[in-house]
Amino acid sequence: MFDNLSDRLGGVFDKLKGRGALKEQDVRDAMREVRIALLEADVALPVARRFIDAVTEKAVGQEVLKAVSPGQQVVKIVHDELVRTLGGDPDDPQSSMAGEGLILEAKPPVVIMMVGLQGSGKTTTTAKLGKLIREKHGKKAMMASLDVNRPAAQEQLAVLGEQVDIATLPIVAGQQPVDIARRAMESARLQNFDVLLLDTAGRLHVDAALMAEMKAVSQVSTPTEVLLVVDSLTGQDAVNVAKSFTDEVPLTGVVLTRMDGDARGGAALSMRAVTGKPIKFAGTGEKLDAIEPFRPGSVADRILG
Ligand code: GDP
Repeated sequence: MFDNLSDRLGGVFDKLKGRGALKEQDVRDAMREVRIALLEADVALPVARRFIDAVTEKAVGQEVLKAVSPGQQVVKIVHDELVRTLGGDPDDPQSSMAGEGLILEAKPPVVIMMVGLQGSGKTTTTAKLGKLIREKHGKKAMMASLDVNRPAAQEQLAVLGEQVDIATLPIVAGQQPVDIARRAMESARLQNFDVLLLDTAGRLHVDAALMAEMKAVSQVSTPTEVLLVVDSLTGQDAVNVAKSFTDEVPLTGVVLTRMDGDARGGAALSMRAVTGKPIKFAGTGEKLDAIEPFRPGSVADRILG
């Protein structure tokens, strides 16, 4: 994960730590290289700029440059700024944005609405969350696919449901998304499910019809969580997709999939600053237990090796 970025930053900071004393110019030179590394990692330009400004301002302070090991101190400042950029608190670095914090304490069935583009990993993530909700939260979840556009989408969720032993709403051919959502709520209520996961339809691109459908489903199901699933491998595109959704539906968070294959990290690093939404989970593989609460502290540790 984030290997390219990690290697690049490692090179810059090894040089910095190798020196005894540091001058302001050394820090500025290093920051120029960090800026390039961030842009090559597909971090959004304003985010990279803000990051470099924040680090430079703290690192060129006299106290840092006069410290016993100034290189180490600069790396610590970079680490803390990475945590902040990822949406975390450097004073509580291992805190997660979700996991334990999924909003599940409401009148059951608590509805979690999953939204995203086709191929982002939405259906897989829905099943992963169903399993996680049972295993980590001890709650009973049901899943329903509202995807009437893609052939076999509803069947796909049913198959995944069997694999993780999570109930899925029986398929009724020809029913439209809002009606499926209503039926799912009724069914979950009657069968005493704690949580209902609604896997909404994806599209190839963000379009007006998709947004209208999201809004209609959201109105009838009043979800406590609206989670956007985006593919981290698409870098800034993932962030732009998230921005478009943010303007239309009340997202409560983002799930970044395919983090296992993301050598760059641009999506993760830009998401919070550009959209204002927390990354709640990271998808880390195709297996149905490959999902982790997104912990800014751990991710920053990984980036800095
Ligand atoms: P959807 O069209 O958004 O519902 O996407 P799917 O859930 O069908 O996922 C598309 C493909 O991505 C499948 O082959 C999944 O196994 C794969 N996938 C989903 N999440 C991850 C992840 O976090 N890591 C990896 N490596 N593959 C994933």
